Amino acid sequence: MQKIVVIGSSNTDLIAKIETFPKAGETIKGVSYFQAMGGKGANQALAAHRLGGEVKFVSSLGKDSNGLNAMEYYKKEGLDATLSLIVDETPSGVAMIWVDRKGENSIVIIAGANEKLSPEYIHQIEKEILKADLIVLQMEIPYETVKTVCDIAHENGKQVLLNVAPARKLDQGIIQKIDILVVNETEAETISGEIIEHIGEEGIVDKLLALGAKTVILTLGKQGCILKNDQLYLRVPAFSVKAVDTTAAGDTFCGALAAELSKGHNWNECLVFASAAAAICVTRMGAQPSVPTETEVRNFLEKKSTNY
Ligand code: ADP
Repeated sequence: MQKIVVIGSSNTDLIAKIETFPKAGETIKGVSYFQAMGGKGANQALAAHRLGGEVKFVSSLGKDSNGLNAMEYYKKEGLDATLSLIVDETPSGVAMIWVDRKGENSIVIIAGANEKLSPEYIHQIEKEILKADLIVLQMEIPYETVKTVCDIAHENGKQVLLNVAPARKLDQGIIQKIDILVVNETEAETISGEIIEHIGEEGIVDKLLALGAKTVILTLGKQGCILKNDQLYLRVPAFSVKAVDTTAAGDTFCGALAAELSKGHNWNECLVFASAAAAICVTRMGAQPSVPTETEVRNFLEKKSTNY
């Protein structure tokens, strides 16, 4: 089995349910509150780990209670986060999330220690990173760090899966070093500068391939996903489920994809597995609490195939 390193953000999500959003200067009484682990890096690392991958997670945390709790939590989950950077005098990342009664949300992220995951630190742990076969990245750490990891991976023949979330433009030099580019519709439009309505889903994927990515996966929410590279064009529909909260659907999809790829499965098997994991995720509330285990996904797939 191939080894995976996920390099990315770790946040504590502070989630308040409210009736309606307060106006500026207003104080309101909330409905309920809960705290959960989040951050795209951590969500994807945990998903890849729960879904059967051999994973190391590299993040950056502060020496505060959120940072200590996070490390404790990863240990309990069995996710190896020991390569992470622990920084002085910068708080761990937090996301303050308000969800109103209609399910609309409003989120403020304070990246904190995530911003300290520097190219210099990546060079310090380069040997450890290069023990992996597949390196998984997102965009909640400094862009320069993402670029450094891509350079190192490319020079050493390691596979890179980049999920360009949150959306941003990429230098072409970086896209050419990406083996697997995973984007949703907004992200695809931001990178390509094209509009899906104008050039179509396959058109936008072609544009990303032309920019230099070797394999492009476009996720389409409940419409499923498409994959294209120089040999294949696949369209995999999403599983029909009762969605209650789509938070972390994309992260679960990416983590599951990495885990299944690392086990040597083919593209179609990997996409079906990732779609099933993400479908289970949307039937549950929250980010990391809703990520399923490998057994849950295999059982789900077995049931679905007997239903057909
Ligand atoms: P992101 O969360 O990054 O915006 P998407 O919304 O495209 O990503 O979702 C990623 C994947 O999760 C989809 O390709 C699909 O397989 C699955 N998914 C998302 N929403 C649903 C849904 N409502 N029902 C079933 N599967 C879903």
